Order: sequence, then C-alpha cells, then structure tokens
Amino acid sequence: MNDLSSYSLAVLDASDALSCFRDRFHFPEPVNGIEPIYFTGNSLGLMPKKAREYVDQELDDWQRLAVEGHLHARKPWLPYHEFLTEQMAAIVGAKPVETVVMNSLTVNLHLLLVSFYRPTPERHKIVIEKGAFPSDRYAVESQIKFHGLDPSESLIEIAPREGESTLRTEDIIALIEREGPSIATIMFGGVNYYTGQAFEMREITAVGHRVGAAVGFDLAHAAGNISLEMHDWDVDFAAWCCYKYLNAGPGAVAGVFVHERHADCAEIPRFAGWWGHDKATRFQMGPDFHVLRGAEGWQLSNPPILQMAALRASLEIFSAAGMPALVEKSRKLTGYLESLVLEIGDARISVVTPSDARQRGCQLSIRVTGGDRTLHERLTQNGVYADWREPDVIRVAPVPLYNSFADVHRFSQVLRSALT
Ligand SMILES: *Cc1c(COP(=O)(O)O)cnc(C)c1O
Repeated sequence: MNDLSSYSLAVLDASDALSCFRDRFHFPEPVNGIEPIYFTGNSLGLMPKKAREYVDQELDDWQRLAVEGHLHARKPWLPYHEFLTEQMAAIVGAKPVETVVMNSLTVNLHLLLVSFYRPTPERHKIVIEKGAFPSDRYAVESQIKFHGLDPSESLIEIAPREGESTLRTEDIIALIEREGPSIATIMFGGVNYYTGQAFEMREITAVGHRVGAAVGFDLAHAAGNISLEMHDWDVDFAAWCCYKYLNAGPGAVAGVFVHERHADCAEIPRFAGWWGHDKATRFQMGPDFHVLRGAEGWQLSNPPILQMAALRASLEIFSAAGMPALVEKSRKLTGYLESLVLEIGDARISVVTPSDARQRGCQLSIRVTGGDRTLHERLTQNGVYADWREPDVIRVAPVPLYNSFADVHRFSQVLRSALT
C-alpha cells in the first residue's frame, strides 16, 4: 500500500463506502490558504452539520413553548436523554438498560467509583495504568483519600517494562493475579490517550473478576474509535466523554455504562439525585428515594438539552455508518498512515502505538527523538491539525468518519518535508 500513485489513492478513496460521511461535517477554515488535514478528532471531533439544526430546534421550542417544552417540544425534554440511549449503547456494545447519557466524564468517574470502589481493610487497592490521563489519576487518588486511605498503599500503577513504551497484557494479568486479594477495583483506560494503546479489556475484566475485583474502563479515547463489547466482556462499569470521537462539541454531555447484572441492585451505595428516581413517581416529590433500574439510576439532575441536541446529530451519523464499517476503514486508514510514516525512513522517527491492530484505534503516537515544538509548528503551518505532547510525541488521529486516504497521504508528505 505504501507506493500508491495519486491515481490509485483516488481509487482507494472512491471505493471507500464511508467517504460520503465526510460531507456531513464542518471542517475548520483553511490555514494560509491551505485546506486543513484534521487529525485531532481524538481531542475535539468535528461539528456535524446537523448539530446547528438540532440545537436551533430546541432553542425555538424554548422560545415558543417555555416550560411547556418539557412535555410538548417536538422532542420533549422530559424524556430527551432516552432518545439517545439506544444509539449510544450500540457504540459501546451495551444494552439500553446499561447505558445513560449524563454529566461530564470526570464527574461520572467519581459517581461510579462511589458505587464500585468500596474498600475494606483487606481489599482496598485500585489498579490503573501508569501514564493514565491526569484527571483519572486525580479521581482515583482523591477517592482513596476520601475513604481515609493512603494512595501510596492503595494505588497501583502498572508501568511498561524498562525500555518499552506500552504495556504487555501478560504483565497486566500477572500483576492482577499477584495482588488479587488486595484489589478492590481495576480502572483502566480503554485506549491510552498518550500512547494510543488499546488495552485488552476482555482479558483484563476476566482476570479482575477471577480475583474478586470490580472492573471498569474510561472509554474517552475508545468510544466511537474501536470495537467495544461492554456487555459481553462483562465489564462492571465504564464512562466516556462525547467531545472526542463522538463529535458532540466542546464540553459535551458524557456517557455511562453499568452492567445489567447491577441493574436491580438498589442497595449499591450511590450518590442520589431526583433524576435517578423512579419516573412514575418522581413528580410526587416524596422524601424517599426509589431508584430507577439500570444505568439511569445513577442520574442526578435533569439533563442539558442543548448539549444533548448536538450529541443527537452525531449519534445519527454513527448509527448510519455503523461501528463495524468504521472500524474496518479505520484499520486500513491507520495501517496506511503507519506504512507511509515508516517509509520516510528517518532514524529519529518511531511509532509508539502498538502495530497490532487489536491493540490500537485510529491514533498513532509518533515519537520524534530530539524533536521539539518547531516541528509541530511546521506541520501546523502546512494545514495539519495534530497535537504535540511533551517531551517528543506527535499524536495524529485519522478518523474514519471524515478523514480520507488522501488526507493521510498528504500528511506524510508534509511530515517528510518538515523533517528536512
Ligand atoms: C479527555 C479525557 C478526560 C477529560 O475529562 P473531562 O472530565 O471530560 O474534562 C479524562 N480522562 C481521559 C482518559 C480522557 O481521555
């Protein structure tokens, strides 16, 4: 695939059944007259063109109906979050009862840890990957302290082997088996934001359960990016944001998964609010909390309709494209990117992200040994949206919904010339 002529490249894009979806998104304005190559959908996904219409619809209904919009908006606000559940569930491989859209990601991690991190004197540890997104680390550390425990004793961070950048599943499994009886909760990323490594969630969940721990994942970089089967993998809980691959806009409302086996466990400790209360009797406004079945029972507040309207536009697109087709294209697109980057043959360049397609999504983290920000600036001036992570990594994410093989090819040419 490496030495495609621009003609066969055109064929590659033309034979891509998903290429029509590109047109459903707004791309940022040209930089220096150059059309952008948008490879930061792992950070903020592009705006679906329909988002404006759907947000406008809610603004119009608010204007026309005011409080009556709760029941009489074209999409009534009272059950609005329910309109999103099925499509969201499909993206993470969950049942609707296991899925809800609410709050933002770190808030949801805390709410879920309240329920799924319940340390005892013997079983008090949380396992995360070293180099997890800072917010996740702050969340678990503060949860440990909240229970009066000491993170130096109760937080285990699994690091890659000396000289390696990514984790080996066998090492994760060995550590969980070794520490087994002391582990309360395992909370891993689905895809690590820095390295782009996708963890083998099915295996991690299985070993976690064998040792008696609860297992959850932060799917911020996984939802809408890789193939997920939260239900079948038997994961206890998961949370993700919707502004990255899920294109729901800055600060978008987030998603939560709680496995069906916990759906009727009203006794699981949780922080409650009125939106988690039984819908049939919520508006009787009684003092006693009667929890809803499933993931909805973790809701606190009535939801942000304008944000949900933007998310609705994106979920419709995912639903039309389908995750299996997206993942299939993604593997080709990222494989093509990897081969072109390696073909540059510059000794300073290496790919941190695993080459095994099952252990990555669309993102490649490219290490530029001895490189600095000026390289990133040269890319930017040539229309490339990529991001620079200290000390020496460029992250690029060709997103199958809106990136093309031509984007990847052009990027490799820009990178090549930026290196010389
Ligand atoms: C993007 C990201 C976050 C951001 O958290 P917010 O609460 O949405 O600000 C947290 N964790 C991970 C793993 C992320 O990738």
